[in-house]
Amino acid sequence: MALQIYNTMTRGKEAFVPLEPGKVKMYVCGPTVYGYMHIGNARPVIVFDTVRNYLESIGYEVRYVTNFTDVDDKMIRKAEEMNITVADVAEMFIKAYEEDIAGLGVKPASLNPRVTESMGTIVDFIKELEDKGYAYENGGDVFYRTAKFADYGKLSRQNLEELQFGIRVEVDARKENPEDFVLWKAAKPGEVHWDSPWGQGRPGWHIECSAMAREYLGDTMDIHGGGVDLQFPHHECECAQTEALTGKPLSNYWMHNAFLNIGDEKMSKSLGNGLLVKDIRQRFKAGVLRYFMLSTHYRNPLNFTEEALQSAEKSAERIALAVSNVQHRLELAGTEQADTARTELTDKIASILEAYHSKMQDDFNTPDAITAVFDWVKLANQTLTEEGAGRADFAALLEAFAVMNSVLGLVPAQEEEAAGEEIERLIAERTEARKNKNWARSDEIRDQLNAMGILLEDTPQGIRWRRK
Ligand code: AMP
Ligand code: ZN
Repeated sequence: MALQIYNTMTRGKEAFVPLEPGKVKMYVCGPTVYGYMHIGNARPVIVFDTVRNYLESIGYEVRYVTNFTDVDDKMIRKAEEMNITVADVAEMFIKAYEEDIAGLGVKPASLNPRVTESMGTIVDFIKELEDKGYAYENGGDVFYRTAKFADYGKLSRQNLEELQFGIRVEVDARKENPEDFVLWKAAKPGEVHWDSPWGQGRPGWHIECSAMAREYLGDTMDIHGGGVDLQFPHHECECAQTEALTGKPLSNYWMHNAFLNIGDEKMSKSLGNGLLVKDIRQRFKAGVLRYFMLSTHYRNPLNFTEEALQSAEKSAERIALAVSNVQHRLELAGTEQADTARTELTDKIASILEAYHSKMQDDFNTPDAITAVFDWVKLANQTLTEEGAGRADFAALLEAFAVMNSVLGLVPAQEEEAAGEEIERLIAERTEARKNKNWARSDEIRDQLNAMGILLEDTPQGIRWRRK
């Protein structure tokens, strides 16, 4: 098996070969932090977290960089609207972003560089482009000279004529060519600004990723990711900036997730139909949202509906229930039982894992990988009913589940633990109530546990619980 990744640059699946054996350098364009994350933004966040997890699970050391755009027009507008500083807007929404990704079971990136903390690197990058003739200044603004970069349009597969046709409507007289894009913007009076060789101003959007990626990952990275809307102009511009400077490819693999839509409507922050992750998280657990996102391949459009979430919830619960039943049986199993799992079971587990890996290695085919997870659920449920099943069998099942779940995150560890802790807490409270002869409270708790599907058994060792 070898990992295959669909590369937008070549429009085909390619065997993944990292720049350096055992290591992956990965950059995913991050959010402009002027608002709360909507469910569409959560798609790349979950997709690329899963990609990263999978790479790590097969032994790669992954350096995962994702930026925060903490100054731009939208940030400035938001600060005016809220009557606070741009830095305060950034602080507020970065904190919210961090809470949201944790709530989606997403690990923090290795590094989150911010534009405002990378100003020196960005200015130096633009200066180098200017020195090489790829950038020109006009009235305090600096533009990229697309005509000088022969490969402009190669990622989005458009030529300059097509591009010019598209842009003709809003020609800026200060540009040499309509498709030239801004690298540095002169500050308007009173606007937040930084010093530069071209006067006071701030960077354009595209330059930050080129500059920060180069600083933290070097001239070329292994994987560059983002939503499909970023292919053009953002990633096209990143290529033009970096490759003009270094003469090397910016990224060996380009991955783009398709859009999440609501009904037939394309979702965007500006549309105002933003269903916010912070609200959805109140109603659905991380595992459910991950299930929903990962049950469609990342390159296919995904339709967001309440029913789809509810159905994801049922499926995620089925998985979680099988896991907790196996866990519980493992806890109950005596230590005198066999140390090795039965061959028939280990063979079945091995073939489930093989199917899982072969699907994940086929351009991260998570929907089919989830089918392998359900084969595991079936096998687990069947094993639970078998007379001879013992400690080693349950341990082997859980170990295999952990391999898949550490990547997909369908049953986040905290959810498993939280459920167990709540049951233990109720049992302890009931024991206390009985000690105090508070039979009413004791019965109430037994009923509550019963409703949760938990049966209590009085044993010489104390109270034991099991799931019905
Ligand atoms: P933004 O903050 O709008 O620049 O988006 C941040 C990331 O979310 C980018 O990678 C976008 O491509 C991605 N994105 C935005 N909206 C959606 C959507 N509806 N579906 C999937 N990805 C999206
Ligand atoms: Zn970017």
